[in-house]
Amino acid sequence: MALVRVREILKMADAANTSVIAFNSSDFNMIHSVFKIAEELKKPALVMLDPRHAALWGWGTPEIYAKMCIEEAAKVDVPVSFHLDHCMDFDFIMRAIKAGFPSVMYDGSMLSYEENVKNTAEVARVAHAMGVDVEAELGHVGFAANETDQDDLDLYTKVDVAARFCEESHCDSVAVAIGTAHGFYKKTPKLDLQRLQEINAAVDTPLVLHGGSGVPDDQLEKAFTMGINKFNVGTEYFYLYFQTVKEYCQNHEDIFDMQMLVQERLQDYLRQKLQLCTMTV
Ligand SMILES: [Zn+2]
Repeated sequence: MALVRVREILKMADAANTSVIAFNSSDFNMIHSVFKIAEELKKPALVMLDPRHAALWGWGTPEIYAKMCIEEAAKVDVPVSFHLDHCMDFDFIMRAIKAGFPSVMYDGSMLSYEENVKNTAEVARVAHAMGVDVEAELGHVGFAANETDQDDLDLYTKVDVAARFCEESHCDSVAVAIGTAHGFYKKTPKLDLQRLQEINAAVDTPLVLHGGSGVPDDQLEKAFTMGINKFNVGTEYFYLYFQTVKEYCQNHEDIFDMQMLVQERLQDYLRQKLQLCTMTV
């Protein structure tokens, strides 16, 4: 099956009443490990490029990233795909599409409703013509370091505008703000599952949950049966990588097999995390 459109994978997750898990991955070790364990567990999975990492690496990244994902995806039989995470830069999104990204996120969540709809619709118009899917964001998923972000109801997705937004923006999936935040939490998040159910009842578009690092599994399990079809994890996957390299450097003189240890640890983590996605293919 290999590389599949993200909208198809989200459709499968929706039919199975669960969520596919999308991991922010910045290099070969991270991408290879996600696809490898997806294959081992017979589950779909996604990797995502954060444009902040692309900015660090320079402008060649979307092309290299796409090539690496396409080659790695061709080695597995389960449905996998890749996606450009949070991007506000129209030109960068176009560049990613041209490079072969099957899915992109246009994040207009910091803009007014009207501007968010207008810009998302413009990205969707071009992306759809190229056979590419678009994720949008309504409400705003803030940062866990700002303790107030996760409790700020003003940032939460409003049920009454969600249906209109999906219809007007032509997005293929929409990230909702229901109590999560990006980064490590200072206090355990409590998802607004009531709101999630109401949004899910109001829209047909698959819903996406960002800020996945540190949300208790029991809350995730519920959210996955209440309409979340794509779940993003970044911070804890990166932190594990960082901790593994740090530990390795403290205990070894020679760096020859460092990447083997990194992959082993990442894969152990993925083997566990991917169990949250209850479907097998
Ligand atoms: Zn996010």
